[in-house]
Amino acid sequence: MVGMLAAMPPPAPRFAQPGDARFRARGDACPGALRLHRADDGALARVRVPGGVLSWEQADGLRELAGRLGDGELYLTSRGNVQLRGLGAECGGELASRMNEMGLLPSERHERVRNVVASPLSGLDGLGVRDVRPWLTALDALVCASGEAIGLSGRFLFALDDGRGDVDALGADVTLRARGGGDAELRVGALESVALVPADEAPGAALLAALAFLEAAGGTGGASGSRSSSGSGAWRVAELADGGASLFDAVVRRLRASGLPVDLGTVPVPDAAPPALGVVTGPGDTDALSVGLPLGRADAARWRALTDLARDHGAGELRLTPWRGVVVPGVRRDRAPGALDAMEAVGLVTGDRSPWTGVGACVGRPGCAKSLADVQGDAAAALPVAPRADALPVHWSGCERRCGHPRGEWVDVVAGPDGGYRVSVVRDGGRTGEPQHVTGDPAALATAVATARITRN
Ligand code: SF4
Repeated sequence: MVGMLAAMPPPAPRFAQPGDARFRARGDACPGALRLHRADDGALARVRVPGGVLSWEQADGLRELAGRLGDGELYLTSRGNVQLRGLGAECGGELASRMNEMGLLPSERHERVRNVVASPLSGLDGLGVRDVRPWLTALDALVCASGEAIGLSGRFLFALDDGRGDVDALGADVTLRARGGGDAELRVGALESVALVPADEAPGAALLAALAFLEAAGGTGGASGSRSSSGSGAWRVAELADGGASLFDAVVRRLRASGLPVDLGTVPVPDAAPPALGVVTGPGDTDALSVGLPLGRADAARWRALTDLARDHGAGELRLTPWRGVVVPGVRRDRAPGALDAMEAVGLVTGDRSPWTGVGACVGRPGCAKSLADVQGDAAAALPVAPRADALPVHWSGCERRCGHPRGEWVDVVAGPDGGYRVSVVRDGGRTGEPQHVTGDPAALATAVATARITRN
C-alpha cells in the first residue's frame, strides 16, 4: 500500500527546461571538453560526439582519460554525448591535448556546437529510407567550417533521421528526415510544417536554417555566452516567441533564394521510438548489438567490454544513442548471441526484461549541488522486480530542472525538500494528473513509481 500520499498544489502547465528564462540567470554555461563545469564531485567535461559515432580507439581513449583524470566512469547524455566527471581542476590542458590527438576536437572553436543526433541503427537494419552517415559527415564539416555557427548555443541541436522517426521525435532545433524519392524533410523545432529539399542538399539546408535561427535570436550567443539586447535571446527554437513559425518562413525564403527547389508539407512530430535492445539483424552476414547502460553510466569494465567487442568482432565503431545506449555494428552473425550474453554478464541492459529498461536519473547527490536527494541510489532501490514491456519510461530528478528527462510520455519522479518525491505521468511536456507525494517509505515509493509506469490516462 502506498503510504503518505497527498495531493500537491496545481503544477505549472509545462516544465521549464534548463535553457528557459526561469533558469537563465547568466549566459550559456553549457559545459564542453574545453570549458569544464565545476560540479560538487569535481570538474565535468562534456565531449560532443556527433551522431554518437566513436571509433573503438576513441572510446578506449576516453576510458583511459576517465580512469586517469576522472572518477573512472563514462556518462552518456540524452544527446549521445559523453561526460567525464570527477576531474581535477588543473587537467584541462591535458584533456584538450588528448582529445585533439584522438580526433575528437576537429575545431576547438566549434566544440560545443557540434550537437548532432542521428538514427543509431541507420544503414544497419534496413528500416530507414537512407543511411544518414553521409549527412552526418557533411553537416559536421559544414558546421566546423562556418564562422557564424560559433554563435550557436551549446544547447542547439541538429537531428538526422533516416526516415524511421526515432530522432525526429526528440525535439531538435533543426531536423532532417529522409523520405522516399530522394527528398528530405527539414523541420525547425516542433512545427508540423516541413520544407522538402533534395536529400543531397539537406546538410547545407540544415546549416542555413541554424544560421537563420541565429539571426532571429539576435546574433551571437554560444561562444560569448550572451545575445544582443535587440534579439529574442533564445538559445533554442522553442524559445522563440512564436515557436519558430516565422523562422520557418524565413528559412523557406532563404532556401528558395539560394536556388533550391523547395516544396512544403505537413508532417506531425512522431512518437519516440528508441532502438530495440538485443541483436539487430543485418546487413549481410553481420548483426548489430544494441545495449543500454544502467542510468547511462559505465565503469571501466563495462566500457571495455563494448570497445573490445567493437575491435575484435565488430566494425570497429560504437554508436552512442540519445537513449543512453550503445550500438555495436558489424558483429558476425554466429558470434552475436554469445556476444550479447557477454554484455549481459558485465551488467549491460540487453533486453526489455531487465529491471533497468526505461529507468533514467539525473546525476543527483553527491555530484550536483542542486540535488535534494541521491536520486540514482533511490532509483536503484526502487527497481521493479518484474518489469512490464509496456511500462512507461521513468526519470528521477534531484530538482525541478529535470536534466536529461525523456520526451513523449514518461513518469516524472522529482525529489522534494521534505525528503520525499512527487510522482506523476507527463505527456507532451505537461502532467496528465495530480502528482502523488511519497515520503519516508522506499517500498511505497517503488510501488507508486511502478503503478504510474503502467498507468495510461
Ligand atoms: S535535475 Fe539533477 S542534475 Fe539537474 S540540476 Fe537538478 S539535481 Fe542537478
